[in-house]
Amino acid sequence: MSEPKEMMSRPIPAPAVYIETKPFWDAAAEGRFLIGRCLDCGKAYWYPRNICPHCFSDHTTLEESPGEGVIYTYSVMHRSPTGPYAIGYVTLNEGPAVLTNFVDTAPDGLTIGMKVKVKFQPTAGGPPVPVFAPV
Ligand SMILES: [Zn+2]
Repeated sequence: MSEPKEMMSRPIPAPAVYIETKPFWDAAAEGRFLIGRCLDCGKAYWYPRNICPHCFSDHTTLEESPGEGVIYTYSVMHRSPTGPYAIGYVTLNEGPAVLTNFVDTAPDGLTIGMKVKVKFQPTAGGPPVPVFAPV
């Protein structure tokens, strides 16, 4: 008989908020997930920043994303004082890859290619951070 599956979650430290990233964190506090979009080459990117990583244009904007994508790869950390947790990359439907924590699933509940969606996890003394959970 196996033990009950432990759902993964762990405390995440408050992110540092800078002038360039403040609009992203302000949106996160409202439960909205923003990605960068270049107004010159048209490509989406993550993480949000003022300079397009594809063509180096500074003609960029932030746009709201549903935060949906699939797991590109992941790794489960079994030895942790706060219990197992998983980190990995999500490929957003818009194209960019996001390095993230996975939540709301047991350590063996993830698979590559699985559909996931963003949600926001509270932090102590800072804005909530985006994490991803299976849909
Ligand atoms: Zn560009």
